[in-house]
Amino acid sequence: MSYFRPNIEAMSGYVPGEQPADPTDATVVKLNTNENPYPPSPEVMKAIAAIRIEDLRRYPSPVADRFRRTAGEVFDVRPEQVICGNGMDDILNITVRALAGPESPMAYPVPTYTLYAVLARLQEAAVREVPFRPDFSLPVEELVAARARVTYLVNPNAPTGTLVPVEDIARLADRLDGVLCIDEAYVDFAEHDCLALATSRPNVLVMRSMSKGYALAGLRFGFAIGSEDLIAGLMKVKDSYNVDAVAAAAASAALADRVYYEQTRRKVMAERDRLAKALAGLGLPCLPSQANFLLATCFRPTAGELYESLKRRRILVRYFDSPGLDDKLRITIGTPEQNDTLIAALTELAR
Ligand SMILES: *Cc1c(COP(=O)(O)O)cnc(C)c1O
Repeated sequence: MSYFRPNIEAMSGYVPGEQPADPTDATVVKLNTNENPYPPSPEVMKAIAAIRIEDLRRYPSPVADRFRRTAGEVFDVRPEQVICGNGMDDILNITVRALAGPESPMAYPVPTYTLYAVLARLQEAAVREVPFRPDFSLPVEELVAARARVTYLVNPNAPTGTLVPVEDIARLADRLDGVLCIDEAYVDFAEHDCLALATSRPNVLVMRSMSKGYALAGLRFGFAIGSEDLIAGLMKVKDSYNVDAVAAAAASAALADRVYYEQTRRKVMAERDRLAKALAGLGLPCLPSQANFLLATCFRPTAGELYESLKRRRILVRYFDSPGLDDKLRITIGTPEQNDTLIAALTELAR
């Protein structure tokens, strides 16, 4: 007999990419979990150094007031339109708990971020997975027909890196009865975003992460922007103090430094285009990516073999041993030097 509820007993948890024990070990070229290869803004460490003992002794602002004000200025919204979380994963958890259940189905196009299926099972939510079209365009009709209470869309998508146009998402939002939650974890590396949909429609939530574009995966900070009504409902579900004082101060500083942000994202985007060309030249074609990673199709050696060979050379990439993805490798964009190391290794291995 198990101590756990049947749905917990039957499921497996989310499996994150591997993290080497020593994060400063420069002999590992870590291109497997889509971290930013550059450090966060220098303002981040200044903000952490400026934390006072009183900031630690007392409970923090329950809604991360300072971050909400900064986000309000940066994105031209009211602070009441912003909710913060302990990473965007916390925001995803809050939305699933608030919006999905056995009688409130959730829908999303697949393949996508596998955490959604895990959160649905935890919540015992009905799930309607709708395949993307073969060219990874949005299956609007099928998603509308799914009649879900909450629809998720990762844009740019993971692990494909492909971006769906705003017009298609607007058409979907306007035809849904429920909420559309847009996961923009990778939007910092894309040419456009869906913020305007979240500020113009009552049923659209745009969710952002500080982990990728702002190089703060270890800090744990994410947020979402939507109508005041939507945000107020989500506030009821979150933990009382779901973001800590240190994370809120550091994330505010990172968000406010627009010049550094812009420089970093441009560097990653330029390297992405260079790496995609190099991989194609080695017989590893990639889907057109608007994220900070590439999904490369492998022929001979197979994706699994290449993954192992790269790992022996201390180059970590992500391999998904699942149908439709098991001939591909997901490769995070590194620094120019890291990408050169990868290209050199693949030049030997891929032919
Ligand atoms: C990284 C990621 C997130 C969340 O990241 P956090 O580190 O929790 O902020 C959400 N969705 C997708 C698709 C991601 O790749």
